[in-house]
Amino acid sequence: MADRDGLIWLDGEMVPWREAKTHVLTHTLHYGMGVFEGVRAYQTPKGAAIFRLQEHTDRLFNSAHILGMPMPWDRETLNRAQCAVVRENGLDSAYIRPMCFYGPEGMGLRADNLEVHCMVAAWSWGAYLGEDNMRNGIRIKVSSFTRHHVNITMCRAKANGNYMNSMMALQEALRDGYDEALLLDASGYVMEGSGENIFIVRDGVLYTPDLTSALDGITRRTVITLCDELGLKVVEKRITRDEVYIADEAFFSGTAAEVTPIREVDGRAIGAGTRGPITEKLQGLYFDQVHGRRDQHPEWLSLV
Ligand code: PMP
Repeated sequence: MADRDGLIWLDGEMVPWREAKTHVLTHTLHYGMGVFEGVRAYQTPKGAAIFRLQEHTDRLFNSAHILGMPMPWDRETLNRAQCAVVRENGLDSAYIRPMCFYGPEGMGLRADNLEVHCMVAAWSWGAYLGEDNMRNGIRIKVSSFTRHHVNITMCRAKANGNYMNSMMALQEALRDGYDEALLLDASGYVMEGSGENIFIVRDGVLYTPDLTSALDGITRRTVITLCDELGLKVVEKRITRDEVYIADEAFFSGTAAEVTPIREVDGRAIGAGTRGPITEKLQGLYFDQVHGRRDQHPEWLSLV
C-alpha cells in the first residue's frame, strides 16, 4: 500500500505517496487517539464526484470535537483536499481516507505539546465485500465481541481506537469462515457490523437499531431518505438477535460496503436465503444516486 506512485495530501501539501510518512513516535500510533473518515467518489455523467462530502467532513469535525482534538484546518480546506487527491491521482472513482492524528511532538498520556496533523489519501477500491456477494448476499455471525458501550469509547466519533473492537470481531468472523461480524451492544441488542449499519425488513417495514453505540452512518441516512421517497416505512428501535433470524430480508449499509445483502446469520437463512426484493430495489437506487443517475439530491455530489 505504501510503495506506489501517486500523491497524498499531508498537512496542507501534496506529497509523493512514498514520502507521506510519520515518525514511529507518532502519538496516535501508540494510543489510538485520532479521527478519520471513509468517503467514496463515483463516476457520474459529469465526471468524478464525491458522495455526501460535506456530511463526511462534518462528521470528521464532530469526531474531533468529541475527542477534544483541535482541528488545524477548516472544513472547506479539507473538502478541497479530498477533491484534489481524487483529481490529482487521476481517479474516476475512489475510496478517500482523511485522518487527523497527533504527531510525534510528545509521548505519554499527559503530553501537552502535541500537534494535530491531517492526511487525505485516495485509491481505487471496488466492492468491499465482493462483487458476487452484492448479488447473492453475505453470511454473517453474531460476534463474541460486544460493541462499545456508550460511556467507554465515544460511539458518535469515528475514532481510530474504536476500530480495535471492529477488527477483533471481523478477524473472528473471517477465521470462522463468515464474511462479516454482527456485533451486539452491551445489553445484548443488535447494533452493527464491524464497519456497517444494519437494516432488517419484515412485512414490508424496515427496522434499524437506534443510534446508541452504532456509528451515525451516512449511508444509513441515505437509505432512510431513499425509503421515504419509495414510501417505505423505517422504524428505528432496539432489535433482538432472533428478530434478525426471522426477518424477511437483511442488509448492511456503509460507504465501503454500500448496500450489501445478508443471506445468512448464524447458519440460519434470512428469508429466501438470497438478496431480497426490497434490498435489491434500495441497492439499485443507491447506485443510481451515487452515480448521479437520479435527479434527486444533486447537492449530495461534489464534482472533484
Ligand atoms: N458503523 C461503523 C462502525 C463504521 O465504521 C461505518 C463505516 N464508516 C459505518 C457504520 C457506516 O457508516 P457510513 O455509512 O457513514 O460509511
